Formats: sequence, C-alpha cells, structure tokens
Amino acid sequence: MKASEIRSKFLSFFETKGHTVVKSSSLIPHDDPTLLFTNAGMNQFKRCFLGEEKRAYVRAASSQKCMRAGGKHNDLENVGYTARHHTFFEMLGNFSFGDYFKEEAVAFAWEFLVGRMGLPQDKLFATIHEGDAAMGLGPDEEARRCWLRHLPDERILTFPTKDNFWAMGDTGPCGPCSEILIDQGEAMGCGRPDCRPGCDCDRYLELWNLVFMEFNRREDGALEPLPKPSIDTGMGLERLAAVIQKVPSNYDTDLFTPMMAAIGEMSGHAYGEDPEKDVSFRVIADHGRAAAFLIGDGVLPSNEGRGYVLRRVIRRALRHGRFLGLDRPFLHQVAVAVMHAMQDAYPELMESRNYITRVILHEEERFSETLDHGLKLLQNEMARLQDEGARVVPGELIFKLYDTYGFPIDIVTDMARKLHFQVDEEGFAERMQKQREQSRKHWKGSGERELSEAYRKLSADEVRSAFLGYDQLEAESRVA
Ligand code: ATP
Ligand code: MG
Ligand code: MG
Ligand code: MG
Repeated sequence: MKASEIRSKFLSFFETKGHTVVKSSSLIPHDDPTLLFTNAGMNQFKRCFLGEEKRAYVRAASSQKCMRAGGKHNDLENVGYTARHHTFFEMLGNFSFGDYFKEEAVAFAWEFLVGRMGLPQDKLFATIHEGDAAMGLGPDEEARRCWLRHLPDERILTFPTKDNFWAMGDTGPCGPCSEILIDQGEAMGCGRPDCRPGCDCDRYLELWNLVFMEFNRREDGALEPLPKPSIDTGMGLERLAAVIQKVPSNYDTDLFTPMMAAIGEMSGHAYGEDPEKDVSFRVIADHGRAAAFLIGDGVLPSNEGRGYVLRRVIRRALRHGRFLGLDRPFLHQVAVAVMHAMQDAYPELMESRNYITRVILHEEERFSETLDHGLKLLQNEMARLQDEGARVVPGELIFKLYDTYGFPIDIVTDMARKLHFQVDEEGFAERMQKQREQSRKHWKGSGERELSEAYRKLSADEVRSAFLGYDQLEAESRVA
C-alpha cells in the first residue's frame, strides 16, 4: 500500500467516525509566538482545546506537516542515524474537542491499526502514564482498562512523565498519554540484553501517541484543568508506511524512493551500499524534503529564527553531499524529487517549483566555497588534535568555523561523531554569547536585510504570499 493511500485511508476512516477532515496548516504557526514551527497536528487546534474558540465540529482529523528542528521537540541530530526520525514529517491525527475521551480514542486506534491496516496484534504494546506525585497524578488506570479490552495485561506498560506526558511546548495544552508501540523484531534492535519497549533503538517502534488533553500549562508552570477533557492523537505517516510496507526504515518507503534514486544517480552510489554513506543519503533526503516544504511555506534562509533552521538543514545536507562526492549544487534537484514524491497530497509544491529550487540553488552556491575551506580547516585541526591525543573539538574552533565559514554547529557535530570526538558545546555557546555582546556594542547593520532583498528579487512574483510575515521572523530570537 502506497503512503498516499495510507494517508487517505486514515482520513476517510475517521470521517466515517464523524470527524471533519481538516487541511494541514502551514509549518509556520499562525498567531503563536511560543512556537518555532508546527510540531504536531494539535497546534492548529490549540485554541479549541483551551475553549477559546468554537468550531462547527467537535471531532476532526488531519494529516499535518510538522517540523522538529529547533524548539522543544528537536530531532535534527537524530536524522541520519535512526530509522524513524525526520526533521519534516507528516503527522496523522484525530481530535476530540470536549467530545469523546479515552475509551473511544483507544477503540478507534485499535480498529484502524488492526482492523483496517492489518497490523499483527501480537506485536503491539500499549504504554500508559505511571502517574507523577509532583503533578498530583496517579497511574492512569482508566487507560489501562481501555487497553485491557484489546491487549493482555503484560503488554500494557507503565511509563514515566518523560515519555508519557505530552506537552506542545513550555506552555499550552498538555496531558498524560498512551502510546502504541510495535515490536519490529530482534534484527531491528540494538542487541543489548536490556533492550525492551522504551529502548532508544528502532526495535520497539513508537507508532501512535494518544494524548488525553486535560491541562493547560501556564507560564508559571502551574497546570490548570482545560474546560473539557479532550483527545489529541498523532502518528507518523512515514513510520506507519514503513510498518505496512514491511521495510526496515522510513527511508525505504515509497515516500523516499524518488529522493534516494536522485541522490544515487547524481553521486554514483546507491542507498544500502554502505552504512556510512547511508547516513548521508538519509540526511540529504530528509533535509531536502524539509527545505522544499519550509520554503514552500514562506521561510527563507537567514541567520536568525526559522530562517536559520532552514539554513542549518540546507548546509548540513550540503556537507553530507560532499561526503558522497557531490561537490556541485545538487540539493535543488533533490527538492524536485520531493515535489514528485509529494505531488498527490501537496500539488502546491510543484506549483512553486521554480521559486523553491532557485532559493536552494542560491544557498548552495553561496555556501559552496566556504564549505570546502571550512572542511579543510576542520579536518586539519582534527588531525592535529588527534596527534596530540586530544578528543574534543574546542569551542573556539567551532566558533571560528561558524563565524568565518558559516558552519552551523551540527556540521562539526557530525564530523566529530564520525571520528569519535566530543564537541565543546559549552565553550562554543560562551564564545557566541561574547560575540553577541560585542556586536550589540558595535552594531552597524547585519547584512541580513540586504540578503533577504536578494532572495526577494529572486522571484518577486512567483510566490508573493509566501513573504507574508517574513519581517516578523527576522526579529525573532536566535537559535544558534
Ligand atoms: P520518539 O520518541 O520516537 O522521538 P515522540 O514521542 O517524540 O517520538 P510524539 O511527540 O509522541 O513523538 O509524536 C507523535 C508521533 O509522531 C510519534 O508517535 C511518531 O509516530 C511521530 N513522530 C514523532 N517525531 C517524529 C520524527 N522526528 N519523525 C517522524 N515521525 C515522528
Ligand atoms: Mg521525539
Ligand atoms: Mg516517544
Ligand atoms: Mg511520543
């Protein structure tokens, strides 16, 4: 079953259960300064949960574009190394605004996964919140009772707040949750003797999170009850597709084959040929997808806020391109493959094709030379450190690479990981802070304004609407 079919089957299943299908909102959250990017399906319904907004429906379902790089949920550095994490992904979700609660949410999820998608029941686990004295919450026995209708007691596991209490951000709607995991078998695991559900490896894959929305976390940290208990669920489309298509990773699903083929063709390597190169294939495919969607939603590369996250993903992809021998601009071509892979559900990407590819190409050309110089410096310095027996990349060097060569820190982190080095993140942060203070004293204009002008000129007419709100973004806090 193709991913696009899974997406539409999910939505139509919930439609038959009385849900209104709602279009994905933008990756740029509207009217929510607490959020860097849309990071879950519930974001666009935040005010419905809080009781501040009434809609014509109390049940909704969506397939939501999400971005988890920067902000509270940050998966940037997982990408490449796990089978299940992306920066950009789609979250399938069903929602109840004060209508049904735990029992129906559990029953719907079970019926969809087992009844409709045919997942093997004996491989599924459910987790519930074990309670939290500091929050005044006991174990979620109500959720356990709901699951006992479908699962034996030994496959219902209690997990702590860290895993089973979901919050959108530091403030806003939140609540205990219950997750569905699937055992993908030993071959997918880390092989450690203590590998069991909750392990950080890919064996017990977290598929679906059912959040029992009961609280609003205020700025002072206090939890206040929501007007009515509600349901918010989220399941990664890519993960479900991997399970249904019986492939070992999200990156082997049909959602990614066009990008893997394009990268293979340009580099002369093949995905699956060499585990180290596969990391780079995954990073490039993921980041190319994220870049295409972010630009399509109106983000432009810059040194601050959302634009800096976009710049980071583009630059990280370029550095992984070098590792595959791609030393000429290539990422804009990966973005074209993304448009082909996603055109059923997101035809607007293809409509902005020229604009998106030109923004990426421009960024590729700008960074190309400094990337090579910076990489050379980094390699030489690391070789020198290695000779000296040192195993840490110093903060000062990370800063120099950032400041002179435009290297986001994750490029250094990736290199360090490969050569088993640590990175002095603290030293880097201190150095950054010092520079910020200095530049505040001697501010003469950052050049950012001229840069965004250049992007504006790239294609003033192609996507006028995409620039709405861009000026606000420039004022946002740094995420370096
Ligand atoms: P994980 O523990 O695997 O990082 P999570 O607990 O952070 O996932 P949730 O916040 O519960 O994820 O999000 C709901 C669902 O969205 C997850 O169960 C998973 O299917 C999917 N999901 C979350 N993060 C990612 C990601 N980075 N890439 C792809 N899918 C994701
Ligand atoms: Mg996570
Ligand atoms: Mg989790
Ligand atoms: Mg989760």
